Amino acid sequence: MAYGATNASSQLFGRTIYRTDSPRKLAVTFDDGPNPSITPKLLDLLDRYHAPATFFLIGRYIRECPELVREISARGHVVGNHTESHRNLFWRRASEIRIELRLTHSAIKNILGAPPKWFRPPFGFRNPWLAGEARELDMRVVMWTLLPGDWKAPSAEWLIQRMQPIALRAQRAIQSGSGAGEILCLHDGSHHEQGADRNLTLAALEHWLPRWRDLGLEFVTIENAVR
Ligand SMILES: [Zn+2]
Repeated sequence: MAYGATNASSQLFGRTIYRTDSPRKLAVTFDDGPNPSITPKLLDLLDRYHAPATFFLIGRYIRECPELVREISARGHVVGNHTESHRNLFWRRASEIRIELRLTHSAIKNILGAPPKWFRPPFGFRNPWLAGEARELDMRVVMWTLLPGDWKAPSAEWLIQRMQPIALRAQRAIQSGSGAGEILCLHDGSHHEQGADRNLTLAALEHWLPRWRDLGLEFVTIENAVR
């Protein structure tokens, strides 16, 4: 049970997206925003490298900054659902999970005019109710291949090092011409508080984005990561 709940590639609780369909495709994703103190800078950085990404947003932050949500979408990124309050849903009842997903679902729909099609569970925890509820809202669950732990990074160097596997695996996979691609999970906000400092995440991306591009990786949203 614990394995199925937290292992990123486990399919125990329904079909989950946990990698892209080509070793050349890199899907960079951000959780726990929108965050006015970082997300605008992040959008500028992504623009500079023509890197469309995916943002899994927290409902209560969406309501605080609807303009920023519009901006994320207007710049070509995909917006996904990361629940209303970022509770750990693993032990929650189906009715509570329903509320957590639906509040954010309608918040996004109200602002962007279209409902989100992608869902990332808080802490990566999944259970059967969650899979069913996501399916009912026509959302696919998105996990990751790499979770470098940017929220606890002591320095940019540490984080840059933790993101090294993307380049190493890509080189290997592109050479062999087979395999799947990476989904990277980073954070532009914090579920504990609004306005969290994520400058180290920015710094690590400034380091890696040009290098990933030079390796021949293509930046894709989750929408273009899988067929
Ligand atoms: Zn989160």
